[in-house]
Amino acid sequence: MNDFDGLRALVTGGASGIGRATAELLASRGARVAVLDLDPGSVDEPLLAYEADVSDDASVRRAVAAAAAELGGLDVLVNNAGVGAQGTVEDNDDDTWHRVLDVNVVGMVRVTRAALPHLRESSHAAIVNTCSIAATAGLPQRALYSASKGAVLALTLAMAADHVREGIRVNCVNPGTVDTPWVGRLLEAAPDPAAERAALEARQPTGRLVTAQEVASAIVHLAGPLSGATTGTALAVDGGMQGLRLRPA
Ligand code: NAD
Repeated sequence: MNDFDGLRALVTGGASGIGRATAELLASRGARVAVLDLDPGSVDEPLLAYEADVSDDASVRRAVAAAAAELGGLDVLVNNAGVGAQGTVEDNDDDTWHRVLDVNVVGMVRVTRAALPHLRESSHAAIVNTCSIAATAGLPQRALYSASKGAVLALTLAMAADHVREGIRVNCVNPGTVDTPWVGRLLEAAPDPAAERAALEARQPTGRLVTAQEVASAIVHLAGPLSGATTGTALAVDGGMQGLRLRPA
């Protein structure tokens, strides 16, 4: 399927996990793809790599301008870069709150601001934000992370409203727990990684973790030219966690 032939995409956090799978899937469907990442060293051709920190506006503006110049414009933006945080409201200090919100929320704003002039020139403009089931699920021990993703959900809807008349669609995906290097690091840090993995698997009605490719597939679907009537939605990719309301057996 070459439904992205001629389209140009930018994926933030595209060097690892969900972003990497998304960049590779977009390229396999015909798009020319640039990755913006803190550490893009592992990114190979045909993907283009740009080093930037979404919490640093100057580096974002430089990287987006360079990617758009190299690609000859932008049609698709995937705002995916993000960081995790664990604990209740008592466990993280103000600096940590500011840092995580700055990356997970304001980071998307910075990249979008830099990309919008290019997206306005496209006749297939789409933005997909990587949100999380944490935005709506009330997960324990995830106060800061959940607040950041709740903001991403609200931001997605507001951006969809603001830019719909310009022909720019904005949607998000809400993954459950996805088997990425991020979750690998979380498991390694747990006292009993196997038990922690089993608990995460049991939380999802399908009884397994989501794969990065499954989230990438949802992102690419929302970004694609065949989704032209879809904007302001959140697509769950969570093994049924939100929709089925099942409790672990
Ligand atoms: P990952 O750690 O495998 O990949 C994240 C990538 O983002 C890395 O390449 C990292 O270098 C980059 N990055 C981090 N901070 C950055 C910054 N300040 N500027 C630029 N790049 C930065 O993680 P992942 O699991 O693929 O997560 C990607 C997104 O998916 C995040 O937004 C995360 O919140 C979301 N998500 C993940 C899960 C999960 O279970 N893995 C679930 C729901 C949502």
